Amino acid sequence: MNKRVLISGGARGIGAAAVKYFTAQGDLVAFIYHRADEKARELANLTGAFPIKADVSDAQSAKSAFVEATNQLGGIDILINCAGIAEFSLFTDISDDAWRRMIDTNLSSAFTLSREAAKVMVSQKSGKIINVGSVWGRMGASCEVHYSASKAGLRGLTQALAKELGPSGITVNCVEPGVIDTDMNSMLDEAAMKELAEATPLCRIGKAEEVAAVIGFLASDGASFITGACIPVDGGFPV
Ligand code: NDP
Repeated sequence: MNKRVLISGGARGIGAAAVKYFTAQGDLVAFIYHRADEKARELANLTGAFPIKADVSDAQSAKSAFVEATNQLGGIDILINCAGIAEFSLFTDISDDAWRRMIDTNLSSAFTLSREAAKVMVSQKSGKIINVGSVWGRMGASCEVHYSASKAGLRGLTQALAKELGPSGITVNCVEPGVIDTDMNSMLDEAAMKELAEATPLCRIGKAEEVAAVIGFLASDGASFITGACIPVDGGFPV
């Protein structure tokens, strides 16, 4: 049966691959984006998904986007929290604003959207929430303390919410990508990307579609007995 799917951070990268994945299998999809108007328009034209412009780091904006999405979709079956930012910074150089921006974008947005989704899902006694964490939420990355902390927070959110919502028939899971070829890594030069590929047992950088496929599985009936799981999609990185 076709599902109603909301994806945050859907205009580019992993989120856009997820939009394509779900629309290709006939699901009804809405996606939230922030600044990439042109890419959002192109993706909407290509896939038929509904684009919604919002800043999910702002709770009010995220809540409004959620209402708009459920109006467009006629409800919600699957929420994918994919919106995120990354930044390299020495720990002592991370400003209060940069810390807040990171936590609000990567973690609080998932809290806000999941809470709104849970209200609907609990009453319908079904639903799936999938968070996009990171290998660094599990391992920690030097010069990415705020990013790593936000992604570790997503692990905790996933595991705790899975316990709380399980009795209502709702699953909550997380994918934890390694290094994936998207705009997020565009600040890394060719040599750095080569080094990361060499540090990956599968000897290459991952593709957004490979993460979307695992998200798609977690959203499928085949994953009906999986909850609270944080699944690496990292080619074995880091060793
Ligand atoms: P991209 O930079 O390609 O895409 C990020 C997406 O998040 C964009 O669609 C962007 O919207 C959206 N976004 C960012 N801030 C906001 C905001 N305030 N409100 C709404 N949307 C926002 O990155 P990826 O596709 O690579 O990343 C997707 C997720 O995967 C992130 O959570 C990231 O942390 C995670 N990840 C990525 C890895 C990688 O190597 N690429 C590795 C591990 C995890 P817009 O385009 O409109 O600005």
